[in-house]
Amino acid sequence: MKVAIIGAGIAGLTAAAELNRRGIEVAVFEKARGSGGRLATRRCDWGHLDIGAQYFTAHSERFQRQVHHWQKLGTLARWEFTPYKAHDGGLTASADDTLRYVGIPDMNSLTRYLAADLQIHYQTRISGVYRRATEWCLYTETDETLRGFDWVVSTLPAEQSRSLLSDASDILAALPAHIHDPCWALALATRGPAPAAVQGIFGDRTISWVSRLSSRPQRRAGTGYDDLWMLHFAAGWSRREGKQTGVDLADTGLSWLNQRLQTRLQCLHHYRHYWRYAGIAANDEVDLAPSLIDAPQQLAVIGAWLGGGRVEGGYLSAMDMIEGCFI
Ligand SMILES: Cc1cc2nc3c(=O)[nH]c(=O)nc-3n(C[C@H](O)[C@H](O)[C@H](O)COP(=O)(O)OP(=O)(O)OC[C@H]3O[C@@H](n4cnc5c(N)ncnc54)[C@H](O)[C@@H]3O)c2cc1C
Repeated sequence: MKVAIIGAGIAGLTAAAELNRRGIEVAVFEKARGSGGRLATRRCDWGHLDIGAQYFTAHSERFQRQVHHWQKLGTLARWEFTPYKAHDGGLTASADDTLRYVGIPDMNSLTRYLAADLQIHYQTRISGVYRRATEWCLYTETDETLRGFDWVVSTLPAEQSRSLLSDASDILAALPAHIHDPCWALALATRGPAPAAVQGIFGDRTISWVSRLSSRPQRRAGTGYDDLWMLHFAAGWSRREGKQTGVDLADTGLSWLNQRLQTRLQCLHHYRHYWRYAGIAANDEVDLAPSLIDAPQQLAVIGAWLGGGRVEGGYLSAMDMIEGCFI
């Protein structure tokens, strides 16, 4: 039995690691140069920037058990802080007992751990899949055809799985055409004092979340600046502005932060990234099973979007598929 998994994010690598553990041959195809997907860490010469998920939570008992296991291995740690809530006049601390976890030392450390024993073909973008007699074939964007797979598992966001699987299966009809909101992510390396207690801020309709990356457990310190921040612009704002925005994001983000922190940070470096598919749009949670399986064709679609749109959902979706198809 040989399984092709498309995508090396949390869902794809959870599935691949589980299949590997069960002795099933698995090949992962990932368009990027490394693992993580939306658990992304960008390495700049001035710092390691977690530009996607900033932390994750574990609500189900099943994921809590897995998280504790990863914690024992040192791949994750709790990020303990009191979140602040932004308002026009500044910030207010908010009571909150949510347990938050981060990768150690970077967010994508978890997927790097999962990827360690797997056969992963990076920089391989799959542009289509096709069933021929008893096997699946995958087409790459460089016109190569990869043959001989018994199962194919797509882990792409619903919107991208739709184009990948067009004509391949009845599953297509279940995939929503639009479910994710975009997000502009902005990293700022700053010089100047900021209140030590402020590590995470729930924002407003311009900036919805701020992490002080430099306050995370076991972060590597950057040189030449005091702090590293990650700002996520709100979904509505990011949608209105779009990828081609003419707004100076660094200027907008820095002014927003300075106003809320009531300080005068200087920006020494910045980096921006547009996520076309970030979180699930409000009111758009899907009413579907955690994994979509076409058993006769041996095709499955999994991903965080099927489990609520967060990292935990990616793990649970993958485990649901493994139990539905391979046990
Ligand atoms: C800005 C932002 C903030 C977030 N904040 C949080 C948070 O605080 N907490 C939380 O729990 N979650 C958060 N999330 C959501 C969380 O990161 C995702 O839900 C989860 O990581 C998605 O995992 P996945 O495996 O389903 O998909 P992905 O991580 O998207 O994995 C899919 C993979 O497929 C690859 N791929 C795509 N197309 C192709 C192709 N054609 N061929 C080959 N490979 C392909 C992609 O490169 C990617 O690696 C956030 C996401 C973003 C973007």
